[in-house]
Amino acid sequence: MPSEYTRRQFTSWFKETYPQEYYFFNKIESNLGKLYSNDYLVLNDGEFAEISIQIRKLEGDKYHLATNQYGAIFLGSLFKTILEEFNSNMESIVSKKIKDEFESKLAIKCSNCENLNLSGSRYCNNCGTGLDDVSTNHRKSER
Ligand SMILES: [Zn+2]
Repeated sequence: MPSEYTRRQFTSWFKETYPQEYYFFNKIESNLGKLYSNDYLVLNDGEFAEISIQIRKLEGDKYHLATNQYGAIFLGSLFKTILEEFNSNMESIVSKKIKDEFESKLAIKCSNCENLNLSGSRYCNNCGTGLDDVSTNHRKSER
């Protein structure tokens, strides 16, 4: 196992060279604590446990994934973390897209109060000011 110094050197290299991979490594690692700290998987302070994954061929072209308990939990946690990251990113991507779509195509911004009104509106739904029907004009001033 690497010394503390080697580990730190590697960590800063990893962080600088592969920032995204490092981010995911951290995400996965931060979820491991919750999983491994239970009485079933007793590890003493400073003790290492190997994560081993093997494939075993069975009769009739069947394959069995053979892993120890640390490996099984690691694999499950790995994919759970990826899925959670994916879901939370998708939510923000989708809500940003919906917001952009609404602002660019479906809305007219009031020149008086900046309220967004549905396209086709003649008067602001908030303050009653008459609206220009040219929905692209209000975007140019922002860019
Ligand atoms: Zn208004």
